[in-house]
Amino acid sequence: MDRISTFFPLEQRPTWAEIDLAAFERNVDAIAAMLPREAKLIALLKADAYGHGAVELARRCTPGRVAMIGVALLEEALELRRAGIELPILVLGPLNSTQLRVALEWHITPGVPGPEALAVAARVAQERDVAIHLKLDSGMGRMGCVESDLPSVIEMIRSAPQLKIDALYTHFANASDPSDPMTQQQLEKFDSMVVTLKEHGVTAPQHHAANSAATMRSIVPGDFARVGVALFGAESLDVDSPRLEPVMRWRSEIARLKDVPAGASVGYGATWRAERASRIATIPVGYADGYHRRLSNTGEMLVRGKRVPIAGRISMDLITLDVTDVADVAVGDEVVLLGHQGGEEISAEELAKKLDTISYEVFCSVGARVPRVYRHGDDVVRIRTRFGA
Ligand SMILES: *Cc1c(COP(=O)(O)O)cnc(C)c1O
Repeated sequence: MDRISTFFPLEQRPTWAEIDLAAFERNVDAIAAMLPREAKLIALLKADAYGHGAVELARRCTPGRVAMIGVALLEEALELRRAGIELPILVLGPLNSTQLRVALEWHITPGVPGPEALAVAARVAQERDVAIHLKLDSGMGRMGCVESDLPSVIEMIRSAPQLKIDALYTHFANASDPSDPMTQQQLEKFDSMVVTLKEHGVTAPQHHAANSAATMRSIVPGDFARVGVALFGAESLDVDSPRLEPVMRWRSEIARLKDVPAGASVGYGATWRAERASRIATIPVGYADGYHRRLSNTGEMLVRGKRVPIAGRISMDLITLDVTDVADVAVGDEVVLLGHQGGEEISAEELAKKLDTISYEVFCSVGARVPRVYRHGDDVVRIRTRFGA
């Protein structure tokens, strides 16, 4: 902790998210070791690596560990390329013809997500070689070519000799629930669509389907697993399952302590009232940083290894805690919003449950105003802040 405080620019408030690069590397290695021998890992680093910071994590995706990086947007892929990331990159989202040309210039593989995007790719392939991954909808009902699209899909591919299908892929809708037969049905549907394409001369050397949840269940058909949330140590199954190491730890410090008498209120709306003489700690973080205001009066944080309740409404830039029961509490004490402190932990799943959402959204909500401090073991490798320190 002290090392970070020393390294950290003094003009910044003491609120940041620590990203444990060594934990991320161990998770990547653990997941890669779970794959069937012939399968390789596509690390899904979309949405800024689920809020952890895509560039820094992509740098840890060495070719021995990861075959490819997946992102949703062309902008996300370009950010990685411009930062010097040389691994193959797959862009999942639909691209128009301008975006497709830019992607190809930068050696970014389009993950063509349906017939419309395929028409764009086939058109661009009249002028140059275009290699794509083509998405089939086996039941997700969102993106991907459905069965009735296949005749026109076959036609488009036949009419574009310079269009190369490097892979066919699909996406599971409910792999996190092992009791749902849907995953198996989707696999069968995917297989039968692949066969239909093959019967009409459309084949691909590679296939992929698994996300984190399927991978954790050892359902990894084909050549790749596309793993996102598990890389960050979040639970990916609805049932208890082995969990990898959390990578993000969001912390702040007590800026002010105040003793209030019984009956006093704290915060906007005076929604919290002291039932006894109480000690209130204020910390410099708020909903503008992505800590949801819905956790007002219900969330908990860690101080000196103890859980403490949020007292009153969460403000834009400040949160108040009831630290009456924390012995020796002091200004400058570390406060953990997400992650471990001592033997206690506030997990992303815990916050997600209180917010009626999923860990993915908890991670993605951590705002740009919160600096990301990248650690490897005890060393601070880099700090990413939008204030240019
Ligand atoms: C986000 C995404 C993934 C990764 O999902 P996780 O549940 O985070 O592993 C895989 N495939 C596609 C198409 C995605 O959009």
